[in-house]
Amino acid sequence: MQAEIISVGTEITLGQITNTNARYLADQLRQLMIEAPWQTNVDDDPTRIKQSLAVASQRAQLIFICGGLGPTEDDRTMAAVGEFLGRDLCLDESYWQEVKATLELRSISTTVNPKNVRQAYYLAGATPLKNPTGLALGTYLKDQDHTYVVLPGPPREFTAMVRESLLPYLKRDFGTGREIFSTLLHFVGRPESLLMSELLSLNLDQRIVVTSYVQPDEIQVRATIHNVKKEEAHRLMKDTLIKIKQKEAGYYIGKGEGMSLAKALVKTLRKKGLKITGAESLTGGLFQATLCSVPGASEVFDGGFVTYAASAKEHLIGVPKETVSEFGVVSKETARAMAIGCQKVMGADVGLSFTGVAGPDSLEGQPAGTVWLGLAIKGQPTITKRLFLPGQTRQAVRQQSVQEGMRLAYNTLL
Ligand code: ATP
Ligand code: MG
Repeated sequence: MQAEIISVGTEITLGQITNTNARYLADQLRQLMIEAPWQTNVDDDPTRIKQSLAVASQRAQLIFICGGLGPTEDDRTMAAVGEFLGRDLCLDESYWQEVKATLELRSISTTVNPKNVRQAYYLAGATPLKNPTGLALGTYLKDQDHTYVVLPGPPREFTAMVRESLLPYLKRDFGTGREIFSTLLHFVGRPESLLMSELLSLNLDQRIVVTSYVQPDEIQVRATIHNVKKEEAHRLMKDTLIKIKQKEAGYYIGKGEGMSLAKALVKTLRKKGLKITGAESLTGGLFQATLCSVPGASEVFDGGFVTYAASAKEHLIGVPKETVSEFGVVSKETARAMAIGCQKVMGADVGLSFTGVAGPDSLEGQPAGTVWLGLAIKGQPTITKRLFLPGQTRQAVRQQSVQEGMRLAYNTLL
């Protein structure tokens, strides 16, 4: 059984947007062991949409048509699919009442635009697919040897609809009970080759395939199990994780799509009941913003400092004038004084500081990319670390400084 994904949209064929929907859907299908070797892009032209459907129907049994279900004139997908299959469109009246109520509630308009009714139409004889985050209905249609699925284009609506409305039907009709299970694991502070050879030495079960990806701030490893029954796959994955965690303690920071170093740092601080603060020069608040992007950051972070100029370093966190004049702004001594200063003034347990040259010009004779980090932990000797990140953009230097600072704090706290 093979599938084809047809993505509809002139924005796609003109190269104005990246087709993330097809990527998402193909990944979901892969996990159900449904192959989608054909993926087509077509513009909003009804004739060409029908041509794409004709080609797809010859080679695939499961066909997805994605995008162009909006209320405007350029959204003509549902009508084109109806014409191709010789089916009328029918109105889901109760859904249309819901849509109207939603629009009125959102105060988009007090008198609902009658054009919106187009979004409550689906193909006669099909199962309408609910849209949990938007207005347009989708369609799930079994038509002799083929199954046609019509979905809306906006990625937020698309992914929610696939997950919540479509997957149960696909599992029911095409599931084998054997799926692909995969878990994404995150590591920091370990070179990829070393990490992978260590994982190899664990002699993991042969059914587990481990692949790695280098990211700017971490190594990601995906552990995948193919063609194994669900319960067995869960047990295998659990055993594998236990082994990996043991071997890579200190480098493994967590699993799942949303995991990050900032999350791991917040989790560690929370576990230990510690509060952190920051004093940031070249990063200008990026560390604190990154930290605050993690839900629950308020438990470990009360506030901190952006001390860009030397005067701010002196007035806000008490960095002695002499330290800056004797050693320079970009120095071990200034980083140390900043870390200690912010930790004391804020009354936190941990103070992390960043001072350096983001570039493109050099500063005080120091080349762009020179950065000093300082880490002051209550009751422990203050640590400093020099980074050198030459040939990078200003933004990259700032981002990597934040990652390295968080890594220093995370590893030291562990
Ligand atoms: P709308 O009511 O927003 O018009 P629609 O179902 O008609 O919904 P489209 O017109 O196809 O959807 O697309 C709406 C927007 O969603 C596009 O402008 C684009 O930003 C995004 N989009 C559509 N298709 C894709 C895709 N395949 N990948 C990524 N983004 C997409
Ligand atoms: Mg549209």
